[in-house]
Amino acid sequence: MAILPVHSFAKGGWVAPAAGARPIRSAVTGDTIAEAGNDALDFAGMLDFARETGGPTLRAMTFHDRARMLKALALHLGEHKQQLYDLAYDTGATLSDSKIDIDGGIGTVFVIASKGRREMPDDQVYVDGDPEMLSRNGTFQGLHVCTPLHGVAVHVNAFNFPVWGMLEKLAPTLLAGVPAIVKPATATCYVTEACVRLIAQSGILPDGALQMIAGGTGDLLDHLGGQDVVSFTGSQNTALKLRSAPNILKNSVRFVAEQDSLNASILGPDVVPGSPEFDLFVKEVQREMTVKAGQKCTAIRRIIAPAEQVGPVIAAISRRLAKTTVGDPRRDATRMGALVSNAQKNDVLDKVAILRSEADMVFGDPENFTVEGLQDGAFLPPMLLHCAEPDRARRVHDTEAFGPVSTVMGYRDLDHAIDLANRGQGSLVASVVTASGDVARAVTLGAGAFHGRLYFNNAASMSEATGHGSPLPHMVHGGPGRAGGGEELGGVRGVLHYMQRTAIQGGPDILSAVTNTWQPGAAEGAAKAHPFTRNFNELAIGETIHTAPRKVTLEDIEHFAAFTGDRFYAHMDEDAAAANPFFPGRVAHGYLLLSFAAGLFVEPAPGPVLANTGLDNLRFLKPVVPGDSIKVRLTVRKKTPRNEDYGEVRWHVRLTNQDDEAVAEYELLTMVAFES
Ligand code: NAP
Repeated sequence: MAILPVHSFAKGGWVAPAAGARPIRSAVTGDTIAEAGNDALDFAGMLDFARETGGPTLRAMTFHDRARMLKALALHLGEHKQQLYDLAYDTGATLSDSKIDIDGGIGTVFVIASKGRREMPDDQVYVDGDPEMLSRNGTFQGLHVCTPLHGVAVHVNAFNFPVWGMLEKLAPTLLAGVPAIVKPATATCYVTEACVRLIAQSGILPDGALQMIAGGTGDLLDHLGGQDVVSFTGSQNTALKLRSAPNILKNSVRFVAEQDSLNASILGPDVVPGSPEFDLFVKEVQREMTVKAGQKCTAIRRIIAPAEQVGPVIAAISRRLAKTTVGDPRRDATRMGALVSNAQKNDVLDKVAILRSEADMVFGDPENFTVEGLQDGAFLPPMLLHCAEPDRARRVHDTEAFGPVSTVMGYRDLDHAIDLANRGQGSLVASVVTASGDVARAVTLGAGAFHGRLYFNNAASMSEATGHGSPLPHMVHGGPGRAGGGEELGGVRGVLHYMQRTAIQGGPDILSAVTNTWQPGAAEGAAKAHPFTRNFNELAIGETIHTAPRKVTLEDIEHFAAFTGDRFYAHMDEDAAAANPFFPGRVAHGYLLLSFAAGLFVEPAPGPVLANTGLDNLRFLKPVVPGDSIKVRLTVRKKTPRNEDYGEVRWHVRLTNQDDEAVAEYELLTMVAFES
């Protein structure tokens, strides 16, 4: 069989393996199927190409431009994914394993793209949080903004998810406006290379936005500086080696690490055999042990059950594991494929030997296990261990056998369960199957600091729950301590890892110009016509109208109370209202003021304003009493295109009384047509 040369994608071209190339074997047959690596790759040149070609083009785009680019990329990959499935069998993955990797990766790109369109501006500056008033009169304020780093994101990835592992980092990086150099693990880099070829052929990304290294990284890390980021996924040992490289330390290169993790799953004290929750627990454990042959960073390594349930838990998990057919991942009947390589298989067996010094094997017999016809494949059976004395044990809490291996241990009470879960010294995820809110809160308080994600599941949520082991693009992925101390994903949070947060201080006009958003206190622009008659593109940031005043009478308040049924005493009963610390006597309803405000600023004729879609940050600042007059200042605060036809206009609305004191403030959201 011909050996596949896995190319690197460097400086816009494909570079074949050469001196320094390593062989790659099929996980299923053990045959050499590919080779990768080239010591002569111009690593410094790749960094320059990213910095000089990819970075400037990406930074010139807005978040929405980049989000549209990512969506197009996800659609393109979705159309061509079959060839990735075909290649992935040799990594040992079954079709359902590959769906997690390939479809999961594409789905992640879709979600990040959609977050970019919905939660980030059509701009190059991202504002993080609200303005801070740094002066008495508001002439000097502060804001935090994020802008893309001017360097390169170097992604060093683990072997287990050759596609998801690349895309889950690439999507937030590109959305941030930063080019990436991806270094997949050599064992499965032929699948990543095929995915990078699809991306390159699509022409969707600008030149220099993505490069890939097949094989070793040479002197790449020696050329990184303070504008670069390393995002590493892999083992604790490699993370330590890379993050402590002198150049990384000297230049304070950002280093995000996702490493091994002794994830736990706790069976809640309220759950008994025969209940839907018990079955759910057993099912999730078995699934986590066998998906990707247990080679998942989030897989359940420690099964923590009430002491009296340990027997039933072992029996039930063993029954399910006995039905898990292990074999050729290409066969439909196979439920669990091979580990990625015989080296990985041997590593797992070494780790199992360590675990056996503190735990007994209760299911699985690795010494007497083969898959017929595939003797040289990296197959192992699922292995379940039982640790009778988890308090005295150390290795079951610190040894990650990165395969289909998990250890059951019993707990006395919930505090004990929490203590055992935390002995992993920091994990990516801990799950709890419980129907008790009290248990969930106690676990959150006792274990939250030790785990990047807490996953609670029970009969009410199980039909829609996303699974213990699935990192979701919306939620953060990472964990403290042993898990690497890093954080990825989590929607826009994951994008910010590739940006610099900068505190901007200045007057409101300066802050408005920096952010393309009118900041309260900034100069008002005169409206050329009523703003409700102007199309989206005609409206200028800061454009303002002031309305005529309107007097609020006692009759108005009573009419509103009768009409709406809101007869709260503060509006209806002078004595009771006066006894309230907030009111001088009867006051106007806040909602009456909002309605009057709309009556004052709305232009009634059909026009470009299509709909009012909500209010944000509403504050009633001072009561309005009968006889007061209110007037409105309406200012265009921010504009965000939503589709081809219309965009969102965020208006700043301020209501003042006859003494120019603010009585209410809010932001009004409207959809405004590009053309009317
Ligand atoms: P690994 O041996 O640490 O390798 C990880 C990556 O680092 C690979 O791309 C590897 O490339 C690269 N690498 C190794 N030495 C390097 C060096 N000196 N310079 C530059 N790059 C270097 O880990 P693995 O065996 O691939 O993955 C398994 C481990 O990853 C498990 O412990 C698992 O828990 C962890 N993991 C964690 C997560 C998470 O999200 N937290 C996800 C998946 C896996 P080569 O392949 O070319 O050596």
